[in-house]
Amino acid sequence: MSLAHTKVRAVSGAAALLLGAAVLSAPAPAFAIPPESHCGTEPGNNNDAYVNHAQLTKRLQQIERTTGGTVDVEVAGYSNQGREIYQARVGHGDTVLLVESQIHGNENHGTEALLNLLPQWGSNTPAAQALRENITIVAVPRLNVDGGENDTRQNEMSWDDVVADFPQLAGAGPSWNYRADVPGFDVNRDFNPDLDYVPAPADFPGNSADTGWYITPESQTVRDLYRSLETEFGTVDYFVDLHNQWSCYAVEGTGEMSPLSISGRFIADPSEFGDWPKFDYDASRRANVAVYDALQGQGNSGFGALTLYPQDTNLPGTALGSFALRGSATVLFETSSNTQTDGQKRNGMLTKQVETGLDGLVDAIVDGSVDTLDPADYEEIPNRVFLPAD
Ligand SMILES: [Zn+2]
Repeated sequence: MSLAHTKVRAVSGAAALLLGAAVLSAPAPAFAIPPESHCGTEPGNNNDAYVNHAQLTKRLQQIERTTGGTVDVEVAGYSNQGREIYQARVGHGDTVLLVESQIHGNENHGTEALLNLLPQWGSNTPAAQALRENITIVAVPRLNVDGGENDTRQNEMSWDDVVADFPQLAGAGPSWNYRADVPGFDVNRDFNPDLDYVPAPADFPGNSADTGWYITPESQTVRDLYRSLETEFGTVDYFVDLHNQWSCYAVEGTGEMSPLSISGRFIADPSEFGDWPKFDYDASRRANVAVYDALQGQGNSGFGALTLYPQDTNLPGTALGSFALRGSATVLFETSSNTQTDGQKRNGMLTKQVETGLDGLVDAIVDGSVDTLDPADYEEIPNRVFLPAD
C-alpha cells in the first residue's frame, strides 16, 4: 500500500463542487488560490534566472571534475545551430534510466534539478555508492539548447534546413509542428517508435495523433542515444521527460495549488502503431506512483499536491509516447510555471520539487520497492484543474 491511497481518499465531494463552480465563473474568486501562492502575476521573461549554454557547459565540466569522472560527461550530439547537446552518465547497474530536460527551450526547472542531482549521485557517500551499483543513469540536461538560449519552446530551424537534410521532402509542406515565425519545430512531436524510420513526403504534414519523423538534430540525438542504450541494456527500463506547464493549476477536489502534474499515459491504443510487445503501462504507472509517494510527507511545502496530467492524450510523436511503445516505463514531469508566465520567487521550490520526485524514483528503483507498488494507485492521483492567472 502506498501513501497515494490515504492522501487521495481524504478529498471531499463538496470541495470538488465548490471548485467546479469557481472555475466556471469569471473571474475566478480568489479563494481558489491560497494567498501565499503566487500564480501567473509576476512579470515573466526571467530566463536569466537559469544557466545559459556557457554556464551549463561549465557546470557539467565542473561536475565531471569534482566527481573524479564518476559522472561522465560527453557530447551526445549537436543542435541545429551547432551547440553541444550533453549527456551525463553515472552508475553501472543493470537497470538503466534515461532522463532528459528542456526538450522545450522555455522549460528550465528540470535542467537546474539535474545539475543539482548529478553531483549527488556521483558523490562518495555510501548511499550514492550503493545507488551506482544498482542503476545506470543517463541524463540529457537541456536537450533543446538553442531554444534554451532563445527562450523559445521550439528549436531554431527552418523548413528549408529540413529539406537540405532530406531532399526527398522538397515537394512536401512543412510538418504540422512547425512555427515559421520562430522559425522552429516543437521537437517533442518529432519522435517515432521505429528508430529506423526515414522521412517520406507522404507522411507530411502529419498530425498530433500520428508519429513523427526525426527531422530535427535534437530528436535524432536522443534517438541515437536511446538506440545505443537499447543495444547495451536490451531495454531502456525507464524514460523520464522533465517539462513545465502553465503556472496555475489546482488539485481537483481541494482547490489547493498544484505545482506539479505527472503522467505515464501517452498512447491510447498501442496496437494502432504496430506490434510493440514490450509496451508496459503498469510499469509506467508504478514509476509515477513512486514519484507521487516521494513527494508526500514534506510538511507544508506544497510538494505533495501532485496532480495527473490529462489522461485522454494520444501522442505517439512525443519522446514519451514513442519510447513507451518500445518498452520504457515512462514518467512525465510538468512543473507548473515556465519562463514567460512566471517570475523567480518559486524557482527554488520548483527545482527542489523535481529533484525530490526524480531522486525518489531512483531510490525506489535502487531498493526494488518500485516493483512492489500497485499500478492501480496511479488512478487515485487527483486530476489537475486549470485556473486563470490571479
Ligand atoms: Zn514541455
